[in-house]
Amino acid sequence: MTHILNADLHCHSVVSDGTLTPEALAERAKANGVELWSLTDHDEIGGQQRAMAAARAQGMGYLTGAEISVTFLNQTVHIVGLGFDADNEDLRQGLQRTRGGRKERAMEMSDGLAKVGIKNAYEGALTYVGNPELISRTHFARFLVETGVCKETSEVFRKYLTEGKPGYVPHRWANLKDAVRWITDAGGMAVVAHPARYKFTPNEEFALFTEFKGHGGQGVEVVTGSHTAAEFVTYAGTAKEFGLAASRGSDFHSPDESHTELGSLPYLPGGLTPVWELLRDRIQ
Ligand code: AMP
Ligand code: MN
Ligand code: MN
Ligand code: MN
Repeated sequence: MTHILNADLHCHSVVSDGTLTPEALAERAKANGVELWSLTDHDEIGGQQRAMAAARAQGMGYLTGAEISVTFLNQTVHIVGLGFDADNEDLRQGLQRTRGGRKERAMEMSDGLAKVGIKNAYEGALTYVGNPELISRTHFARFLVETGVCKETSEVFRKYLTEGKPGYVPHRWANLKDAVRWITDAGGMAVVAHPARYKFTPNEEFALFTEFKGHGGQGVEVVTGSHTAAEFVTYAGTAKEFGLAASRGSDFHSPDESHTELGSLPYLPGGLTPVWELLRDRIQ
């Protein structure tokens, strides 16, 4: 399969922190010319059956997907899994454990916000949640925009929800090794999501890719809504250097918030192995 394929292998539905249903996303993806699609909700595969059925109804290829939250060298790293068996019991349990601490974390975030005068943020965030097991910072951001505390979600993150800010609560997610193993043991491919977003030193980033590869990870997002054009080039180089397949995905969350539309990114650069080439047999 060629690298010239409108594949969008990263986006979110109401099952995590997106605002559209899996069906509405599938329709939107199709309308934008997507040929191969994956719904990659955070730490959750509860939307996979619906997404797969919707993709089929729209006549698009589908790969199962999830975006797993991992803690590596004290930072949160996201690992996308593609093409796994969604019924795999170890994967299901691993994801459930990863989701586990979110409620307590959210209540602590709310306490932090209360200290700077923002009351009842937990209850407020909950009204935006589609899946009670998956309350995320994004839901708090929506509440703070809706109540006029900030103009847009990026401002909420900057002022309230990132390290050192009142609503930020450090959290331990899954281990890199476990996340990669859950995905690969379920027949899927692990992919480092949006590598340019992390604040690693060059040595730390080298350690991330080396360990990821050592654990059986096989892919890296090169063309993503989180990267600049210059970063497409940087991480195409990383893919070659580490012998990783390259992925492409918008990371679309919502028509109102996302700056990158489904299926609208440039194609993968040539000279790379697209993840969909290695996952050919997993496309449904
Ligand atoms: P959580 O998993 O609860 O820590 O939430 C992480 C989610 O917050 C990410 O998947 C993004 O959807 C969103 N997010 C993180 N940083 C920002 C930002 N600076 N602006 C807007 N959304 C962000
Ligand atoms: Mn998100
Ligand atoms: Mn992410
Ligand atoms: Mn994402």
